[in-house]
This record gives sequence, C-alpha cells and structure tokens, in this order.
Amino acid sequence: MLNLLWNLVGDDSANEAKALAGMLKEFPELPDWSGAVQPLLDRLRHYNGVKRSLDCRVLSGMPFNALALSHKTIVIAESLVDFCRGQTHQMAFVIAHELSHLHRGHAREQSRATAMAGMLTFNPLLAMGVKALLGRVCSRENEFEADRDATTFCHRAGYSVQAGADFLERLRSGELPSGVIQQLMSTHPPLAERLEEIRGTANRLRTNATE
Ligand SMILES: [Zn+2]
Repeated sequence: MLNLLWNLVGDDSANEAKALAGMLKEFPELPDWSGAVQPLLDRLRHYNGVKRSLDCRVLSGMPFNALALSHKTIVIAESLVDFCRGQTHQMAFVIAHELSHLHRGHAREQSRATAMAGMLTFNPLLAMGVKALLGRVCSRENEFEADRDATTFCHRAGYSVQAGADFLERLRSGELPSGVIQQLMSTHPPLAERLEEIRGTANRLRTNATE
C-alpha cells in the first residue's frame, strides 16, 4: 500500500525538472561557476563509487545555502561558493554533504513525505501537522547522516577530513552577517551538534588510517 502511494506521487526526474526550472527563473545560473565546482563533484563521485552522472549548478542571488534536488542536481548559492573561495576542501565538504542527500534519496523521501501527508488526510491543518512532523524527524537524522557521509566521502577522495569542521567553525566565527547564518540554520541542525558529529567521524577515520 505504501509503495503504491509512493509511486503515485510522481517521478523524480520530472519533479526535479519542474523545481529547477522555477529556481532558475528566479536565480539565474552562473555557468562558469557551475563549471568550476563540477570537477569537485566528479572527483567525489569517482572515489566513492557513485556511477551515475550528477550536476552541480551555481545560482546567483539565491539565499546562502546548498541543496540536493530529487533526481541528479545539486544547487549551490553563489554566495556560498564565494565564501569557499580558496578553500577547495571546504567546498568539497559542502558538495559531499549534498552528494549524500542525493545518493541516499533524502530529497525524494522528503517530497514524498510531504505529498503523502496530503494524501493521508483531507484536513489541511492535520496534513500540515503530519508534514511538519515527518519533515522534522526526517531532516534532522538525514542531516547528521549527510555530515558523516560527507566526511567519509572527502577522506576517500583525498580531501581533508578536517574540512567539514573547518567550514562550520568559519560559519560560527561571525565572518558572515547573522541573517545569512539564520537562513542556513532554518534547514540544518545547530552548528555545535553538527561539529560534534563531524569531529567524531573524522577521528574514527584518522584512527582507522593509522591502524
Ligand atoms: Zn543537508
């Protein structure tokens, strides 16, 4: 029954094309910037056995964030790429985090959970409650999972295992205006919790490497 409902919700590539077209209308792509970050994604894929081709698109004017769509695209705000200028390993961590979301189908899960909530009840208030609940539970666990994966993906691809912690430390250090951080925090768990998780994974990887 669940599977049947899942299938009714629509196919990922069509959903993604619709979402991406909407985003591109509002936030035009910077093709040169996309071309500059694509090799990082390709390298991460190569060393982590992700065979299918995936795209990185950098959008101008989009709020400071990066996100994985439901099929094969990672979109990154120009401001986030700019923040990582000269910090290739940190940029790789951001992309690796989104690669995990894509690879594990987190975005797909989320959009289906949202659609499911709407199908399970005709009461819009109840649907909203179910959606919020599913969204919160999914996304918190998914974010930690994506951080752990990203640290491992970076390690395998020859990027620093320290890159994730360095990136989050820089976010915390007040280099950016507080409104920018708030935007990012609206979609991710608190920085301190993420740092702890990432450092734990990095330490495990380091210990394994020296054994
Ligand atoms: Zn995430």
